[in-house]
Amino acid sequence: MAATLESSAMTTTGAVAAPPPPPITRVAPALIRDDRLEPIRAKVDRGERLAIDDGDLLFTTPDLWSVLEMGDAVRRRLHGDSAYYNINRHLNYSNVCALSCKFCDFYAKAGQAKAYTRDMEYVRGEVRKAVEGGATEIHSVGGLHPTLPFSYYTDLVSTIRDEARSLGSGLNVKAFTAVEIVHLARIAKQYKGASLPGPEGKTARRAGIRWVLERLKEAGLGSLPGGGAEVFDDRVHDEAYKGKIRSDVWLDVHEVAHEIGLNTNATILYGHIEQRRERLVHMDMLRRAQDRALGRMGYQGEARQRGSETARQGEEREVDAPAITLTRPGTPLPERIAFGADSTPSSLRRSVAPSLPPSTPGYFQTIIPLPFFPDGCELEHLPGPTGLENLRTMAIARLMLDNFPHVKAFWIMQTLAMAQLMLASGADDIDGTVVWYDITKVGGASTHQEVTVWSLQKAIREAGFEPIERDTLYRRVVRDGSRWSVQAEPSAR
Ligand code: SF4
Repeated sequence: MAATLESSAMTTTGAVAAPPPPPITRVAPALIRDDRLEPIRAKVDRGERLAIDDGDLLFTTPDLWSVLEMGDAVRRRLHGDSAYYNINRHLNYSNVCALSCKFCDFYAKAGQAKAYTRDMEYVRGEVRKAVEGGATEIHSVGGLHPTLPFSYYTDLVSTIRDEARSLGSGLNVKAFTAVEIVHLARIAKQYKGASLPGPEGKTARRAGIRWVLERLKEAGLGSLPGGGAEVFDDRVHDEAYKGKIRSDVWLDVHEVAHEIGLNTNATILYGHIEQRRERLVHMDMLRRAQDRALGRMGYQGEARQRGSETARQGEEREVDAPAITLTRPGTPLPERIAFGADSTPSSLRRSVAPSLPPSTPGYFQTIIPLPFFPDGCELEHLPGPTGLENLRTMAIARLMLDNFPHVKAFWIMQTLAMAQLMLASGADDIDGTVVWYDITKVGGASTHQEVTVWSLQKAIREAGFEPIERDTLYRRVVRDGSRWSVQAEPSAR
């Protein structure tokens, strides 16, 4: 303070004038600029689809700052300063699993001390706690239990729905990864013929998947989570999670879900034995599946150049749907179409109803990049990805998956601190309050991994964004005391 007064000048009126501001010294580290990124930047500005080779450069360039900046530019074009969170509760119904994936620290074998399977009384108790806590979603997944009957799963879903309804809540039941859905088709004996080669096998497995999904939907299933995708590559599959469904089957489950009007999410579990190129192929396969989903909703795309970016696997090549990008300036997001938001072109508008009519097809809402955590699993000797690798992968997911409306930095696996940084490099969502999570325990965390709404909002605000509470379908949640409702207008765009 003394130094300030000493350096102040007297004005003609005798008042002490404020000292001139000190010259600004730029202390930012010397940034490496990679001019090879310019063609990619031009495509990003125009909202054009990036090639897998573009993704290769984004992964290898030393100019990480530009990659993050481009991810941020796309994220802001789609969502402005909004950043989404939700109030949810996870419910893992059983950790007993017939498989033993190498990266998994969750599963138990029947009879082991840590094995558990929840009964419906337990489930009802969890729903009551969720409703009391204001949750708009219950997220329920589990292992591939070898002996539970199919009726357990329909009971699980209807119990959640009915208990919530009895308490006046219409929360969304988001449950079962694609891997579990196929397991259910098997135990319900609806998967006969699915292993036949060619179109016959595909038709049989899709029929089994549809049978399961329709019954679960009838019981109250509201949407599918995105787990079980891992990395869409046969080599990685055979080395790390042999026995799990392959990419073509995972994509079939989600496509059938979309056809019957369920929205779904997608994940990529990276940073173990896969190559970065394989991450990019995975992203490309997802965006092709989303092209088909958005086409069903009425989006018009651009004819794809055939053969330039083909996925390396899949028992047969999917018919190339036109490429549809949502990142092109002015393109409406699918939730605006599904819920009839005002600025949606009438040719694309579906309904102003607050819930989807049964005939409205579903789509992928969110891509969730999940870093691999080595602790406690068979791949424990691997280092896992670094923080910068996580940031880069998040930004690249935003840039490559140009037809996914949302990118989630799942704070449980990224940490809340990293999720804050990711909001400024491509992500627009940090997930929710979670409460119990025993699939991955970062840094030895316990299964109780609750974060308060206040902490989520604070983290978002501190990162420079406006926190928006959303429901599972990305509609804005409005609260009135302990009651909540949703607005048809889902997004700030
Ligand atoms: S990842 Fe899923 S399918 Fe694999 S062992 Fe774990 S619970 Fe079972």
